Amino acid sequence: MALYVQKFGGTSVGSIERIEHVADKVKTFHDQGHQIVVAVSAMSGETNRLIGLASDISDTPTPREMDVLVSTGEQVTIALLAMALQKRGVNARSFTGWQVGIKTDNSYMKARIEDIDTSAMRAQLDAGGVVVVAGFQGIDDDNNITTLGRGGSDTTGVALAAALGADECQIYTDVDGVYTTDPRVVPAARRMEKVTFEEMLEMASLGSKVLQIRSVEFAGKYKVPLRVLSSFKDGNGTLITMEENSSVENPVISGIAFNRDEAKVTIKGVPDIPGVASKILVPISDANIEVDMIIQNVSADGTTDFTFTVHRNDYQKALDILRDTATELEAREATGTDDICKVSMVGVGMRSHAGVASKMFKTLADENINILAITTSEIKISVVIEEKYLELAVRALHTAFGLDAEEETA
Ligand code: ADP
Ligand code: ASP
Ligand code: MG
Repeated sequence: MALYVQKFGGTSVGSIERIEHVADKVKTFHDQGHQIVVAVSAMSGETNRLIGLASDISDTPTPREMDVLVSTGEQVTIALLAMALQKRGVNARSFTGWQVGIKTDNSYMKARIEDIDTSAMRAQLDAGGVVVVAGFQGIDDDNNITTLGRGGSDTTGVALAAALGADECQIYTDVDGVYTTDPRVVPAARRMEKVTFEEMLEMASLGSKVLQIRSVEFAGKYKVPLRVLSSFKDGNGTLITMEENSSVENPVISGIAFNRDEAKVTIKGVPDIPGVASKILVPISDANIEVDMIIQNVSADGTTDFTFTVHRNDYQKALDILRDTATELEAREATGTDDICKVSMVGVGMRSHAGVASKMFKTLADENINILAITTSEIKISVVIEEKYLELAVRALHTAFGLDAEEETA
């Protein structure tokens, strides 16, 4: 008998039929004698709908009320799933975040889980029942409702598994595992049997939305066995593993991630003297804007161009600040664009293989795709390109690095 935490995402609970299907699935595990704690998302589209309602009222809703609003989606699905289980004769009970004591810090809309009181869940499990917990939500020290950021139900699932010492945290979604890249963009993408935590962390942080990055961090920190599976199709899914892949039998590149939420801004003709980078970036960080990549051109005539990328939501704000800085530094101009994206190749095998970057750049050059910025770390290489080339770039790289499904058996 095992204790499983099973998280079901928005598509998996997106209609009454699907909730009934989830109930059948949970009942099957429960009937086998396992202890089951379920974490659910809101029905697909619901969180976006709620955010839309808020924006119909105000351009600047307070974060506290946003969290009161968006946390409601998950309260609907816990009740419906508990009812569906009860209809099947299963003793099930729904719990909101505060009812199971999911304590978070007070950063609305991106709160971090600090502590979970397992007593209510334990009592229900000890009574032979199934626990159904609302994902995405928690409560701060002052009893305010908080939410964990988009995709946060994954983190609820992993945090519950850590707190309960579960045998496995199973993330059920609309794909049957973690693929070499988003299978919606590359039909030839291949499911991975296993992926290392390190690679999954990079993939998630570079834009693969199959798992929220914090859920992967949490699982790594508390050594929670984590698996991604399909709600609709049987199979082993993908295990996120602590073992390092051996680079002998595994490909150098494990996966390709991409992110469209990017923008870049450039200040042209700034004096190339000490202190300029901080003069440009301090006002940006003071405005709470996170900078990702930074590129400074070689100077000509004692001046240089300085470019950096930011999240697309911060584009206009960053550009406005940069225009002020340009005036102050007597730079030529500040410009920017938000039709760019970032494509990243990830693999622990890169540590022991040279030539990945040059092959990546050549592949993109052969497709006539211009690289606007580059960053690398030990196990990843990212490039910024024009957004219109995203699909082309990802597919070309996927093929060039031998990741296409047909090639696996060749
Ligand atoms: P849920 O609602 O279940 O949380 P999400 O939409 O958040 O589901 O995550 C699943 C989606 O993640 C898939 O439908 C897929 O399009 C996308 N995705 C992005 N990158 C990958 C990847 N490398 N492997 C699998 N799915 C991916
Ligand atoms: N419902 C939330 C969202 O759409 C949380 C989740 O689904 O994980 O972001
Ligand atoms: Mg998700």
